[in-house]
Amino acid sequence: MTEVSALSAVPSGARDAVLKFYFGPMDCGKSTLALQMNYNHGRQGRRGLVLTKHDRSGGPKVTSRIGLGLDAIEVVDSLDLVRLVTSHDRIDYLICDEACFYTVAQIEQLADLVDEHGVDVYAFGLASDFRSVMFPAAQRLFELADEVCRLQVEVLCWCGRPGQLNARVVGGAMARTGEQVVIGDTDASPVRYQVLCRRHHRSGRLGEGSFSDAVGDAVGSDQAV
Ligand SMILES: [Zn+2]
Repeated sequence: MTEVSALSAVPSGARDAVLKFYFGPMDCGKSTLALQMNYNHGRQGRRGLVLTKHDRSGGPKVTSRIGLGLDAIEVVDSLDLVRLVTSHDRIDYLICDEACFYTVAQIEQLADLVDEHGVDVYAFGLASDFRSVMFPAAQRLFELADEVCRLQVEVLCWCGRPGQLNARVVGGAMARTGEQVVIGDTDASPVRYQVLCRRHHRSGRLGEGSFSDAVGDAVGSDQAV
C-alpha cells in the first residue's frame, strides 16, 4: 500500500465514471437519444446494458417515437441493479430509460455502480408528474448526478411555447389529483397525456382541437406519466 499525500499527482489516464441524467417532457426524444447513445458506446467496443420501465411498447423494450427499438431489461421494484451488473462479466455503461419510475433505492444503486464499480450511467426520464411534482427517483437523480441536462427537441404546447410539463387528461379535463403513475393512452384507458407549457399547465387550458387528429398523434400514445 502506498501512502497517498495531498500532493500526489492525479493518476494519469484515469477517468471517473459518470452519472448523467437527461430529462424532459414526453415526446422530447429521450428514448431516441438513449438508443443513439447505446449505439455509439457499443461501436467503441464498450459493453453495456439497456434498462427500462413502463416503456410505451408495454414490453421490456426501449422504443422511440421515430420507430427505433431495442430489447431491454425491465426494472421491476425488486431488481437490485448492483447485483444485476456484477452478475455480468464486464459492464462499462448502463442506459437507464424511464428512470423516473425506478425506486429511490435503485437510484442509489446507480450511484454505487458509478463510484464503486466504475460504470458510466446514462439515465433518461421525466422530471415531474402530471401535477408538475417531481418524481422521487428524478429528484434523487438531480441530487446525485454529476451532470443534468434538459432535453428540448421541439415539443411545443398547443400555443406554440416550449412544452415543459405533462398534463393528465381525464374525460376531457386536466386532472390535478390522483396516483402518480397511471398508464394512459391505451384503448382501455380513459386517461391520456398532453404536453403543455408552464402557463397552460397552471391554468389547465388544453387548447382548442386537442382531440383532433392533428394534436391527437402528439398526445396519443404515451403511457405512464
Ligand atoms: Zn401553452
